[in-house]
Amino acid sequence: MDAAETCLSCYYDDIFTERMTKNLTDHGIELAYNESVVKIEGDKKVERIVTNKGSYDVDMVVLCIGFKPNNALGRDHLELFGNGAFLVDKKQQTSDKDVFAIGDCATVFDNAIQKTNYIALATNAVRSGIIAAHNACGIELESVGVQGSNGISIWGYNMVSTGITLTKALELGYDAVATDYEDLQKPGFITDDNDKVLIRIVYDMKTRVILGAQLASHENISMTIHMFSLAIQEQVTIDKLKLFDVFFLPHFNQPYNYITMAALGAK
Ligand SMILES: Cc1cc2nc3c(=O)[nH]c(=O)nc-3n(C[C@H](O)[C@H](O)[C@H](O)COP(=O)(O)OP(=O)(O)OC[C@H]3O[C@@H](n4cnc5c(N)ncnc54)[C@H](O)[C@@H]3O)c2cc1C
Repeated sequence: MDAAETCLSCYYDDIFTERMTKNLTDHGIELAYNESVVKIEGDKKVERIVTNKGSYDVDMVVLCIGFKPNNALGRDHLELFGNGAFLVDKKQQTSDKDVFAIGDCATVFDNAIQKTNYIALATNAVRSGIIAAHNACGIELESVGVQGSNGISIWGYNMVSTGITLTKALELGYDAVATDYEDLQKPGFITDDNDKVLIRIVYDMKTRVILGAQLASHENISMTIHMFSLAIQEQVTIDKLKLFDVFFLPHFNQPYNYITMAALGAK
């Protein structure tokens, strides 16, 4: 159940969430979008959830409704971000220069939107720890920022994304467009373990800078997203991707691979 119109809407555009919705329903999951939980009822154990549209009998309830930073230790002393996270600079330093904050209680610099943001991930926690430790011990080190790269795999259907979606980019006022492409991972004559890969690259029409990328497939496409993550970090334009060197070997990919083809399809 989700109050949003679809699943995974913070990380993927519709053409991807539709695929995951199909994957879930194909495996017998009953989905209820656009529906909000109002209360959980039961006598000594959960028996039913009541929503704004009806009620469902249940044996167990798992709530995944977001998270908020635990700022109890410093909230009366340190400057806070909108959601209560400790506001830090690129050295993980808070508004009190003797206090460093890392991980889920701290902000990050988001390269996709070129602004401070809050993205709670283990990857950000370990990197921010390394940066804070260096600065606290006298070796100056700045964060290179993050892109919010993420992945999910459900019944073998893999989705990965980085940066922002087209929906989010338009909401934020970017002159954003997307270039999409779908093709087999390997040449068509390879019939074993050769699934289609759907790719979307989101970029800004004015600056041409890449804002986000999303991929979906039964293939393991996870490593591809790291390249897009670096591209966003370094503010690479979509045009730089058009003819960049992507090797080809039929065991792995196609000569006109989906990255090249999606980039060439950009307006
Ligand atoms: C179900 C789930 C799945 C996740 N999966 C992923 C994933 O696949 N990939 C990913 O990158 N991220 C994932 N995350 C996010 C990731 O777990 C967090 O971003 C990461 O653990 C943050 O690390 P942290 O050290 O900042 O905080 P935490 O791991 O929350 O550690 C904070 C610790 O501080 C302790 N603490 C709090 N207050 C005090 C105090 N006053 N004194 C002493 N100790 C205190 C807490 O008990 C806790 O042990 C997932 C999170 C959840 C909940």
